[in-house]
Amino acid sequence: MPEAFHNLINGKWVDALSRETLESVNPADTSDIIGTVPASGREDIDRAVEAARAALPGWRSTPAPKRGEIIFRAAEKLLKHKNELGRLVTREMGKILSEGLGDVQEAIDMAYYMAAEGRRLTGETVPSELFAKDCKSVRTPVGVFGLITPWNFPAAIPAWKIFPCLIAGNTAVFKPSSSTPVAATRLVEMIHDAGLLPGVLNLVHGTGDGAGEALASHPGIDGLSFTGSTAIGERLLKTCASTGKEISCEMGGKNPIIVMDDARIDLAVEGALWGAFGTSGQRCTAASRLIVHEKVHDRFLAMFLNAARSLKVGNGLDKATQMGPVINEAQMRKVLGYIETGRKEGAQLALGGQSMREGALAKGFFIEPTVFIGVDEEMRIAQEEIFGPVVSVLKAKNLEDAIAMANNVKYGLSSSIYTQDVNNSAIAERDLDAGIVYINAPTIGAEIQLPFGGVKKSGLGRKEAGGRGGSLDMFTRWKVIYRDFSGRLQKAQIDTD
Ligand code: NAP
Repeated sequence: MPEAFHNLINGKWVDALSRETLESVNPADTSDIIGTVPASGREDIDRAVEAARAALPGWRSTPAPKRGEIIFRAAEKLLKHKNELGRLVTREMGKILSEGLGDVQEAIDMAYYMAAEGRRLTGETVPSELFAKDCKSVRTPVGVFGLITPWNFPAAIPAWKIFPCLIAGNTAVFKPSSSTPVAATRLVEMIHDAGLLPGVLNLVHGTGDGAGEALASHPGIDGLSFTGSTAIGERLLKTCASTGKEISCEMGGKNPIIVMDDARIDLAVEGALWGAFGTSGQRCTAASRLIVHEKVHDRFLAMFLNAARSLKVGNGLDKATQMGPVINEAQMRKVLGYIETGRKEGAQLALGGQSMREGALAKGFFIEPTVFIGVDEEMRIAQEEIFGPVVSVLKAKNLEDAIAMANNVKYGLSSSIYTQDVNNSAIAERDLDAGIVYINAPTIGAEIQLPFGGVKKSGLGRKEAGGRGGSLDMFTRWKVIYRDFSGRLQKAQIDTD
C-alpha cells in the first residue's frame, strides 16, 4: 500500500470529505507509487478558507519580527532535511538529484530572506508640506491568499509564495500541483511544525479543475498568487477580475539565447546545453530557441550537437544521470506531438526526436535530447512553449536581426546573449523584451533576492521573489498615514493668505 498523505486544514491532517484520493507516481519509474493524497473538492476548500480567515486576526497582529522567527525556524528545518526533501523532489518530479537539492536550496534561501524581512518590511517617511505634520506609508497585509503552483519546482515555487505571503501577515490556502503533491506536503509539514498557529497555512490537495478552480473562485480569499501555464493563468485572471481580487500570474516562456559572432563559443555551448536540457527543458525559463549569428552558426552547432549527443539520460537519483524524464504521459505525448509538428513544418531534425523505452528507461517518460535546425522563426516549434527537451536553432544575420527574432513571440520571460562586446551586451540589455536578461549566462538561474517574472503572455500582475518590486508588493497593501500635531486645521494645497 502506498503511504497516504493528507490535507492540512486548521492545523489538522485530514482526508478529503469525499474520501477520494489521487496517486503520485515517479515519472522515471511508474511502478514506484510515492503516495496518495486527497482528491479534494469545494467543501474541503470551504473549510480551509474558513480556517485561514479565522486565523487572520491573530497572525496579522503577531509582530512581524516574531513571524520572522517562525519562518527562520522553518528555514533551519528545511536545511536539516534538505537531503531527504531533495531526493523526494527528484523521485516525484524527475529532475536530477543535484537539481532536486537545488530546488530545496532555493526554498531555504527564500525562507532565510523572508525571515529577515520581518525586521524590515520597510515603508517610507517623507516630509510634509505643512508644519507640525508628518507623513508615512506602511505595508499592511492583504488578507487570505490562495496559492496555486505547478509541478516543475515542487519546493522552490511554493516557498516563493508561502514565505512572503506569511511574513507580510497574510494567511494562506495552498493548492500544489497534483503531479507533485508529496513534496509539497513535506514542505508544508516542516513550515507548519516550525510554530505556526492552526489555520495560518492550510494545504489542500486536488486537481486543477476541482480544488484549484474552487480556490480561485472562492469568495473568502482576498488574493490569488498563481504560477503555471498561460492558458490557465488567463482563465484565472478573468475569474479574479470578476470578483475584484488581487492576482499575480507567472506563466509560460519561449526563451531565446543569442550567440554572437564575437562570443566565446565554448561558453555559449555549455550555457545552451544547460539552458535547453536542464530539468529536461521543463523550466519556464528554459532556453528553447538558440539564435546564432550566421558567421559562427556551423561551428557552434557542431559543438552543441556533440555535447547534446553525449548527455546521459536516466533516473535522476542515479548520480551519473544528466537529464531525467518528463513529468507524465500527457506531457510526453505533447512533446512528441511538437516534434512531429516540427518535422511537418520542414525543420530539420539534427538530433533525437524519439521517446526512450529501452532497458532501465522502459517504465519512465523519457525523451531523447532533441535539436531542430533550419528553423524559421514563424514555425510553431519556434513560437509555442513545448516544455520538454526540444530546442530550435535559428540563424541570424546580425545583432538587430537576432533581437528582432528573440522578441518575435508572444512570451517575454527570460532571455540571454553570449557576446564579448560591451556594446552588443548593452544593446541587448536595452532591447530584449523580457522580464529577465542574462549576459554570458543561459536563460535559467534566477536568484531569489531579485524580482522574478515576465512581460507579455509570460506574466501578469506583481512579480515574484525579492527586492524592490518583488512579491512583497503582491502580498501587502500600502497604507498612508498623515498625523497633524499642530493643534489647528492645516489645509494642504490651499493658499491661506
Ligand atoms: P498548469 O497546468 O497551468 O497548472 C498549474 C497549477 O494550476 C497546478 O496546480 C494545476 O493543478 C492548477 N490548475 C490547473 N487548472 C486549473 C484551474 N482551472 N483552476 C485553478 N487551478 C488550476 O501548469 P503546469 O503544467 O503545472 O506547469 C507548467 C507551466 O508552468 C508551464 O507553462 C511553465 O512555463 C509554467 N511555469 C511558469 C513559471 C514562472 O514563474 N513564470 C514557473 C514555473 C512554471 P493540477 O496540477 O492538479 O492540474
